[in-house]
Amino acid sequence: FRRLRQNLKKTRDALGAELTQTLFDTLDDETWERLEEALIMADVGAGATAKIVGRLEQEATSGGTTDPQALQERLIELLAEAARPHGEPTIDLRHGPTVIMVCGVNGTGKTTSIGKLASTLATQLGQKVVLGAADTFRAAAVEQLQIWGERANVEVVTGPPGTDPGSVAFEAVRIGREIGADVVIVDTAGRLHTQLPLMEELAKVRRVIDKQFPGAPHEILLTVDSTTGQNGLRQAKEFSQAAPVTGIVLTKLDGSAKGGIAIAIAQELGIPVKLIGIGEGLEDLRPFDATDFATALIR
Ligand code: GDP
Repeated sequence: FRRLRQNLKKTRDALGAELTQTLFDTLDDETWERLEEALIMADVGAGATAKIVGRLEQEATSGGTTDPQALQERLIELLAEAARPHGEPTIDLRHGPTVIMVCGVNGTGKTTSIGKLASTLATQLGQKVVLGAADTFRAAAVEQLQIWGERANVEVVTGPPGTDPGSVAFEAVRIGREIGADVVIVDTAGRLHTQLPLMEELAKVRRVIDKQFPGAPHEILLTVDSTTGQNGLRQAKEFSQAAPVTGIVLTKLDGSAKGGIAIAIAQELGIPVKLIGIGEGLEDLRPFDATDFATALIR
């Protein structure tokens, strides 16, 4: 939690000055306006902000507590509630192998997140992991994945440059099944989402994986760069219309003043944030915990 708190400093600062206890010392219209402004600045989103501020104000003015400390506590609770995903934020690893397809626009932290996830699963949880480098469009992406694979000591399935992404995905899942892997993680291309062929390519990779292993992929994770705030949310909306995204990996929270986007995503997409990236190190990918997150934003 300490590290999470440290790395959410920028968002907390964006909220911070406004949200110290003194905000609730006097309760008048300005209190609620300032709170609203601060939440909007942190990219919590207009809808969620209105709901949270409205609720807190209503409780405080209708005979509820007016104690500053208690109001801050209640604010944390309301933020956590709003950030709490609609489904289980966990990833079921009992599919033998569980196939995780990872998509996201280039630069959002897709490859890094896959590397961290593979490393955590392999070294901390003792899982047998296979990586599929189906972002065959970028030679650098394949190399990067191979480096992560070496670090985590997991097998990386690749094809020559320009190979059909579907065939690499197919092969990765086939090998994963053959060697009794617990998890197969498939990287996919991330050229700009406005290009229709990308969405078609992702759909094709999905179909091919399902053909090799009916029911797979079991998870489709989408990386969203939290520093891009509402833009990231827009991207996530477009991706989720094209593919049944099951979870968000919210990256770069350490460098972001817009960490509130986790709440906007949960509210507007109905897709749980499952993992968060809070740094570039191996250990900097964490499961998302709404209460810890909300607490780290405010205190
Ligand atoms: P991709 O193009 O989506 O595969 O993106 P990369 O995985 O190559 O990441 C792009 C850049 O973002 C790299 O410099 C990463 O080190 C950096 N990055 C990824 N995740 C995080 C994170 O959680 N925190 C920080 N600070 N940097 C990150």
